[in-house]
Amino acid sequence: MALVVILGGGESGYGSAVLAAAKGYDVLLSDSGKLKEPYRSLLVEKKIPFEEGGHTLERLLEAEFVVKSPGIPETAPVVRAIRAKHIPIISEIEFAGRYLAPHTRTVCITGSNGKTTTTTLIHEIMRGAGFRAELAGNIGRSLALQVAETPAAQQPDWYVIELSSFQLDGMYDFRADIALLLNITPDHLDRYDHRMENYVASKFRITQNLRPQDLFIYNGEDPETLAYLPNILPTLQAQTCAFHVKGGQGQAWCDATRGVLHCGEFSLETAEMRLKGLHNMANALAAVAACQKAGVPNGAIAETLRTFGGVEHRLEPVATIDGVEYINDSKATNVDSVWYALQAMTRPTVWIAGGTDKGNDYAVLMPLVREHVKALVCMGLDNAKLLRDFTGVVPVYDTASLDEALKACRAVVQPGDAVLLSPACASFDLFHNYEDRGRQFKQAVHALETEKPTTGTK
Ligand code: ADP
Repeated sequence: MALVVILGGGESGYGSAVLAAAKGYDVLLSDSGKLKEPYRSLLVEKKIPFEEGGHTLERLLEAEFVVKSPGIPETAPVVRAIRAKHIPIISEIEFAGRYLAPHTRTVCITGSNGKTTTTTLIHEIMRGAGFRAELAGNIGRSLALQVAETPAAQQPDWYVIELSSFQLDGMYDFRADIALLLNITPDHLDRYDHRMENYVASKFRITQNLRPQDLFIYNGEDPETLAYLPNILPTLQAQTCAFHVKGGQGQAWCDATRGVLHCGEFSLETAEMRLKGLHNMANALAAVAACQKAGVPNGAIAETLRTFGGVEHRLEPVATIDGVEYINDSKATNVDSVWYALQAMTRPTVWIAGGTDKGNDYAVLMPLVREHVKALVCMGLDNAKLLRDFTGVVPVYDTASLDEALKACRAVVQPGDAVLLSPACASFDLFHNYEDRGRQFKQAVHALETEKPTTGTK
């Protein structure tokens, strides 16, 4: 029996192992670290062979092909050894894509920011319209596991798949029916030899294998996308749809003066939507274009757009206390997403930022900070860079914990203000991850609500 090696035993690796076993392969899942629960126990239960805490290279090199988890870089010695033997390395989505039922179609979403929001929105629109649609990819259960556990006839009509560039890197024959590229701004460059063009090329893999009946939806205002597009247009067979939110009119566009989204026959006033901010109008337009192509009626699209409130930790309203609105944007771990958050602020804003810096350049934020931010509260173990860049621009406070940060906010806010946690940084100095940071922030805000002094009303 041919051997399939699965490198990495997280969500996608576990799913791939189950799928490979179900398809009759000899399987070895190999992880250089300790396997996490529940994956370890599940592998034992399913009698799928695995090794942890290191790799048995001789055995790995017997593989017919390797399914590599997105988190493992090309520079890992084990990956180099496998490449040296010319053993194909693919990603979980490529592997799972081989077993999609003939009736199952895919909407695939990539971009530097907005993937989870847009993927969730498309899924909710489809479900709201009564479509049989499931989420997969970077979000929820892996595609491989769902494919392994669902008999072909019962597979959904649509998988809505969030794709990181690392997943895309291991994709060759996979084809989306509807492909979305939301935007491209610098991120993860350490995995791309610090060359932006490599990262951009990786994102554009979303267009590979598209047929004339497929649709490629892209951001008609994104400089990196527009610069690279001519490289693929000569061979791209798919239909295209560009979306615009900053002024241009296109197939899908936002009339900012009147506050209306347009996409073909579809139109909706932005005031009717719960999503706020220009970036979310872009996400919404991309979702509308995708859902129209999938055959969702315009009325059903509008209905979900009116009720969809976004995803946790993304510009999430937490509470209004003493007239001050608290907003959790903990997922904003890069400068670009903070740009959009600040841009969306309609109240004077006390901005909480900081954490583990990823080589941030804050220059692009300066005009928005001057316009919207009344004070910056730095929250991190090392705030030197933020302090240096923003001192003299707005009042800056140096804090090293969430409690201190909120105290500093309370000291400067007035009714009508907003407190925005939008850190521009990773969270690992003070928190486990961005979810932990967001949850702790929300808890602390809710605690303020209960300990609120006598006079205040909500
Ligand atoms: P991803 O899954 O790509 O990380 P999310 O939907 O989780 O994207 O959003 C991540 C962060 O980026 C949040 O702070 C969010 O407010 C912001 N964001 C969402 N959509 C966009 C967009 N289209 N452009 C820029 N920033 C965005």
